[in-house]
Amino acid sequence: MTDTPSFWRTKPLDAMSRAEWESLCDGCGRCCLHKLRDEDTDRLAFTNVGCRLLDGQSCQCKDYENRKKRVPDCVKLTPKRVAAIDWLPPTCAYRLLAEGRDLPWWHPLVSGSPETVHEAGVSVRGRTVPEREAGDFEDHVVAWPGRWPAGAKSRRRPG
Ligand code: SF4
Ligand code: SF4
Repeated sequence: MTDTPSFWRTKPLDAMSRAEWESLCDGCGRCCLHKLRDEDTDRLAFTNVGCRLLDGQSCQCKDYENRKKRVPDCVKLTPKRVAAIDWLPPTCAYRLLAEGRDLPWWHPLVSGSPETVHEAGVSVRGRTVPEREAGDFEDHVVAWPGRWPAGAKSRRRPG
């Protein structure tokens, strides 16, 4: 008997069902942080300021179904958009697959647990500043959302 290969290894992004597509999101919340773009250089900077609908502990959107109505500039990811946008964090499953890479050990589809994205230090849990308390976003520029945490880089779960 052979194991059925995981869908994300066999299907291109644009052939996935809605449920498969949604399940690719690891729940890290990194894409829900505000970003700043330098008008002159086009350079992008992440901040640790969360969108007003981001729950800083669960790392989930507080109103996912109505997010576009409540936050008009929230971007709904599609295969086409994933290929075109430059602000998805390097750990994002959509970006990884679009780049021809596999999902890491801490991705819930691989680990079987929604907690491993937090254990690996990939999620934004406990690291965000609420939008209404942030003041000037330029005071909140941080590098970590654009990086892989050390514990997340290994091919297998450490320990
Ligand atoms: S960065 Fe990617 S994987 Fe993480 S919450 Fe956003 S869409 Fe999901
Ligand atoms: S509206 Fe929800 S999904 Fe969109 S950026 Fe804000 S928290 Fe994230």
